[in-house]
Amino acid sequence: MFTKEELDEIKKSINIVEFIGRYVNLQKAGSSYRGLCPFHSDNDPSFYVHPQRGFFHCFGCGEKGDVISFYQKIESLSFSEAVKRLADHAGIVVEIDSTESEYDKYTSIMSRLADVYSRELKEGNSAVMEYLVDRRKISLATIDEFKLGYSPDERTFQQSLPSKCRVDEKTLVQFGILIGRGSSLRDRFSGRLLIPIDNESGRVVGFGGRIMVSEQGPKYTNSPESKYFQKNRLLFNLSRSKGAIKQLNYAVIAEGYFDVISLFEAGITNAVGLLGTALTERHLRILGNYTRNLLFFLDSDDAGQAATLRSIDIAEKIDFSTAVVVSRNHKDPADLFVSEGAKAIQEVLAAAIPGPAFRVEFFARKLDLSVPQGRKHLIEYLKPYVINFRNSGSLATVQSTIAALSQKTGYSERELELALKGGLGGQSRSEIGRGLVLKLKDHVRIYLQHPSLRSKVVKQLELIAESGDLKEILKGMKRGLELEELLDLVDEIVGRELIDLASSCIDFETAQRILEKTGEYANRKLVEEEMAEIDRKMPNVKDEGARRALLVRRIELSRLLDRKMKGGDQFGKAEKE
Ligand SMILES: [Zn+2]
Repeated sequence: MFTKEELDEIKKSINIVEFIGRYVNLQKAGSSYRGLCPFHSDNDPSFYVHPQRGFFHCFGCGEKGDVISFYQKIESLSFSEAVKRLADHAGIVVEIDSTESEYDKYTSIMSRLADVYSRELKEGNSAVMEYLVDRRKISLATIDEFKLGYSPDERTFQQSLPSKCRVDEKTLVQFGILIGRGSSLRDRFSGRLLIPIDNESGRVVGFGGRIMVSEQGPKYTNSPESKYFQKNRLLFNLSRSKGAIKQLNYAVIAEGYFDVISLFEAGITNAVGLLGTALTERHLRILGNYTRNLLFFLDSDDAGQAATLRSIDIAEKIDFSTAVVVSRNHKDPADLFVSEGAKAIQEVLAAAIPGPAFRVEFFARKLDLSVPQGRKHLIEYLKPYVINFRNSGSLATVQSTIAALSQKTGYSERELELALKGGLGGQSRSEIGRGLVLKLKDHVRIYLQHPSLRSKVVKQLELIAESGDLKEILKGMKRGLELEELLDLVDEIVGRELIDLASSCIDFETAQRILEKTGEYANRKLVEEEMAEIDRKMPNVKDEGARRALLVRRIELSRLLDRKMKGGDQFGKAEKE
């Protein structure tokens, strides 16, 4: 139905890296780009995109193809639907197939159903209207805007559904709207207030239903998962809010339908809702097309706060900047809106705190910070985060975490920086060692990204590198090898790590600072090694003169070490505290 020429033209006019990049965070790796595979649970990026040849390939699960098959898979589209939309995207006119696609059929039935429910609400259900207007403080205009509806718990209504939607019973069963009860069929949402859920392009793909009549069954229920209704990629209200999100350059993320609707009522037009599920990377990829800034306004109970922490963790991991509303007096945005109105909503949004500060706050709530032990624990909780941020090059996040910690604990930022590298006071040697292994990754990074610092890196690594993998890499570094050549020396696990280190940026100034600090350490390590060597030799040296010479050298060395510590270099100071 499409000619080969048409398909080639579409493929040629779409930049595959840019297009797939809307779904997958791609980093340049040699001649191709790589990222986490969207088709299997991928921890090490094994998904590659080749811009010249127009292919993608996953080494983990074997998925591969061109931009059309990628689009088909990721959006669950038929071939013709994918081609049509891509042609549209590329601004190419193709012969449109006149037969209705399954997607068109599904969404138009859902849309007719939304009309039927909406009419029911307005014409026959004053009790539900009262609930919306009086209890929820939702205006009639907003009820219309969201096309809220109702499905009465009546046999006659349910029997009339097929004719009202102009389809047969079988199709409604197939699309999960009618379900069997004994020998008869009933509406899955019977007795529920209904909220139509649109996909990103504004087509109705499902419903959320809140129980109204009896208290039987769960309070909220959604359409069943299907090709077109996938909770881990749908965001409630995105089709309506995407313009505002782009314009304001941030999105408010809430949990429930009524949270989003209440925010809308309060004049916040850039909010989206999660459909009873945790925020996923999929959601984030989609939001990433509109903004990189997220403001979380989830429930204030323990579950909501834990979900907030998880959400900012994954959002920061893929370079979103985050902020969090801290309003402990209300359960959620809907609750705050009902009890205090639009102004209160705007106020708490304006008083949101940065994600890293929220994380500190979250852990601090569980601890008694008036005692040193509590403060120490707080630092220990945050330490793995800081190490991760530092390794991934998110230096701004490291900075704001340290600033928030300083405010909470009263330690200076400088003290905290030391503590978050080694440990606060009396840390063991093994802890210093562990920090250094991580530091050595920085060395590899500096080597790969700043050729002018290479000789310095190699010199230091020769002194302090102990682990086997690094020794192998070091051999290549001594020969000045480039990334592609270094990859030949190592296995896949280390190779992938190298590719990562090459692509996570470290600026020149930071690189220099790191080398300076490690230089001091490396010197000290040399001195200590020489002292240990003398101690080993001593017992076997019989000659008086030679013994004295060694002793003098040892005293010299120990003075040198002493001076380094008093001189306040990083490592000496951390150990004395
Ligand atoms: Zn895969």
